[in-house]
Amino acid sequence: MKLYNSLTKTKEDFVPIDKEHIRIYFCGPTVYNKLHVGNFRAALVGDLLSKVLKGIYPKVTYVSNITDIDDKIIAASVEANMSIDELTNKYFQQYIDDSSLLGISAPDIQPFATDFIPSMISFIEVLLDKDAAYEVNGNVLFDTTKFPQYGVLSDRKLEEQIKGSRIKVESYKKNSNDFILWKPSLDNEPGWESPWGIGRPGWHLECSVMSQETLSVPFDIHGGGNDLKFPHHDNEIAQTCGFHGTEDPTAFAKYWIHNGFLNLQNEKMSKSEGNVIYLEDLLTDFKGNEIRLALLSSHYRQPIPWSQTLLTQSASIRKKICSKLQNFDHIEPAFHRSSKVGECLLDDLNTPLALSVFQEKLASDDQNIDREIATYKYIFEGSNQDNSISAEEIKLIEQLIIQRNQARKNGNYEEADKIRDKLDKMKVSIKDIGGKTEWTK
Ligand SMILES: [Zn+2]
Repeated sequence: MKLYNSLTKTKEDFVPIDKEHIRIYFCGPTVYNKLHVGNFRAALVGDLLSKVLKGIYPKVTYVSNITDIDDKIIAASVEANMSIDELTNKYFQQYIDDSSLLGISAPDIQPFATDFIPSMISFIEVLLDKDAAYEVNGNVLFDTTKFPQYGVLSDRKLEEQIKGSRIKVESYKKNSNDFILWKPSLDNEPGWESPWGIGRPGWHLECSVMSQETLSVPFDIHGGGNDLKFPHHDNEIAQTCGFHGTEDPTAFAKYWIHNGFLNLQNEKMSKSEGNVIYLEDLLTDFKGNEIRLALLSSHYRQPIPWSQTLLTQSASIRKKICSKLQNFDHIEPAFHRSSKVGECLLDDLNTPLALSVFQEKLASDDQNIDREIATYKYIFEGSNQDNSISAEEIKLIEQLIIQRNQARKNGNYEEADKIRDKLDKMKVSIKDIGGKTEWTK
């Protein structure tokens, strides 16, 4: 397989560290608000990459974290008048539901930052011991001048950054790029006991610790959105290399992959720009797998020009081919010469090419395309398993949903929750959108 490596800035052959066990880490979301459709691209790319690698190698461990402590979370919980737990649980559940609507499988390990606080404290202690960090009034900072390779991923040279920096440097920082490993918490903020007083970890630290604890280092692939390259990923590299006393960034992760954004009218879709579209807005007109197809219709490194036309086109492609996608769950997807679709994915996950090759195959007289269909389904639908559900089961699910909505209407939330649990056990996830309830299994 070939992958574009953001660290070397070249497309390279993927050579695993241990071909018996591939290890991948993708930065996951901070669960403090509703995610817009653009936020799901990194999760989808992680899903895509891990699925392809699972189709090639005997064992793949795909880790993607949940950030459940952060300044943004604290501010959002105050604003919503909810406890941090309530808030993070709510948006975590929403993230899981939305991901499953897009055919994104759960990662093999999904660590929560707050479950790793003791490891984070020990990690900081090692950095302090090695003089790669310093403490000022309960804050612990990473000293970026102790890592001469700082900025290696985003290609920012330290001197340039200092010279070009117009940002006011906080008085406790020795250098403008130094970043927080641990910060003190105020009385009304969540905090943990530490050698530096009650406080909480910095965001960058979480990923260095969780990836090392769940996968051990070095691991094969680290990924995330383009916006995470700097400072987040460069800071992760600096910390982990500092911890292990090495200058070599590949002592952390060998390949770095970064995805592009969704563009809406030529602008990046982002909450701060105020031009976001939520999944639930789309689900009134489109199905989850049609949206997944639209998201995969551009190469993951390119921006996606997001529009109603793109969605309509994707829906019409899917409607045309969906009758041909039945009953292929007994056929394994393939990522070698026996599947042209699979071959396209081996070239840096070229989904637009795979899609057009698949459409050509379907239109050709070739009768021997079962393997192509299974591979297409696995990637573009999220699973080669048939989700065909019996008519009785559909009837039962729909009856339960009606009962649940009736219970909610009557204010009987206990009963409504019970029915939701029952649906959960049947592996049915539901979503309330504009007065309607959508479900997927
Ligand atoms: Zn991260």
